[in-house]
Amino acid sequence: MKKIAILGSTGSIGTQTLDVVDKEGDLEVTALTAHSNIDLLEKQIRKYRPALAAVDQEDKAAELRLRIADTDTRVLGGPEGVAECAAASDAEMVVTAIVGIAGLDATLAAIEAGKDIALANKETLVTAGDIVMPLARERGVNILPVDSEHSAIFQSISDQKKFLKRIIITASGGPFFGMKREELAKKTRFDALKHPNWNMGAKITVDSATLVNKGLEIIEAKHLFGLDVDHITPVVHRESIIHSLVEFTDGSVIGQLGVPDMRLPIAYALTWPLRKGPVSQPLDLVRVGRLTFYEIDNSAFPAVELAKKAARIGGTMPAVLNGANEEAVAAFLRDGCGFLEITELIERAMENHRPVEDPTVDDIKAADAEARELVRANLNIAS
Ligand code: NDP
Ligand code: MG
Repeated sequence: MKKIAILGSTGSIGTQTLDVVDKEGDLEVTALTAHSNIDLLEKQIRKYRPALAAVDQEDKAAELRLRIADTDTRVLGGPEGVAECAAASDAEMVVTAIVGIAGLDATLAAIEAGKDIALANKETLVTAGDIVMPLARERGVNILPVDSEHSAIFQSISDQKKFLKRIIITASGGPFFGMKREELAKKTRFDALKHPNWNMGAKITVDSATLVNKGLEIIEAKHLFGLDVDHITPVVHRESIIHSLVEFTDGSVIGQLGVPDMRLPIAYALTWPLRKGPVSQPLDLVRVGRLTFYEIDNSAFPAVELAKKAARIGGTMPAVLNGANEEAVAAFLRDGCGFLEITELIERAMENHRPVEDPTVDDIKAADAEARELVRANLNIAS
């Protein structure tokens, strides 16, 4: 039995990870965490009986403690409790499925404790990749990508890293593919939350509509595979069947295909270097029929170029891009700003920021806070 801890077990990736646990049969869950959804966390604790659990909101942690007093699970509270859960359980691998920079401390704590990481929480690498990756190397920790594109890239590179020339990262294009700015201006959260191919948490679904997600993923790939962003080419692939490709020095291109189902990359991260039984439907290429590819429309969707710019500047700039995005998306989801404003606010936060080189975790958190503050101030002016 391989022991795993799941941070963010009540979310989209968290619940799909538990589904993989049910299917694989040789994975044992030793810790589970949530932000506030203790109804679902209680059900998960009763089913998987982990030794540890944590709830980010202290009052909810206290309530859960009372509710599950009849079990052997110890419940920790607050962000420190979540980080302790990541480090203190006897898991060999920690699945980081918390959304946003909120996952950073727990990911660092897990790496410090020598746990392998199945990384879904891309914001951790976007904001602090230059700290996370060297720390993982120092501690001898494997970071296995859960993000479908990065899992595809990892699988396609295999043991040929020294011949890697370029990464071709695919993007579904999201629900607003093909639209121009006039049309995008009218889009609401209801429109943005309808993703054509994937069923995901609200934040990443909006990120997929703005294409911020692809920008974040390019920075994530830069850290995971050690290529600069100019050697990572995004291409829209509407069917989400080819999850990404790599080009080698001889011109050969290798990609990974599969049905769009996150349980595939989750299972690969959990069972690597092995492959176990099927966790999803087989791919029927005849039924898919056609695979189509398009360029990114950078004038309608400026997020990819903004992310590349942030990565080239480096230091605290990617944390500003990420923090401004998190704050703007939260506002968009409560109808507090328009769809196009999300990338406009990111751009404004980046213009306003004086990047710190070789930042510490504290510098990164300060840049994140500054970006959020700027977004909030701009939203107040607008309303
Ligand atoms: P969800 O919003 O569905 O789930 C987020 C999880 O994190 C929940 O368990 C939530 O708890 C918990 N959480 C939220 N805020 C905090 C906090 N401040 N402190 C501690 N825990 C918190 O997100 P997704 O599962 O969609 O995404 C998770 C990560 O995986 C993101 O980084 C995303 O980019 C990445 N990812 C997701 C994909 C997908 O298909 N969903 C695909 C590829 C990557 P609660 O339920 O109590 O609120
Ligand atoms: Mg992805």
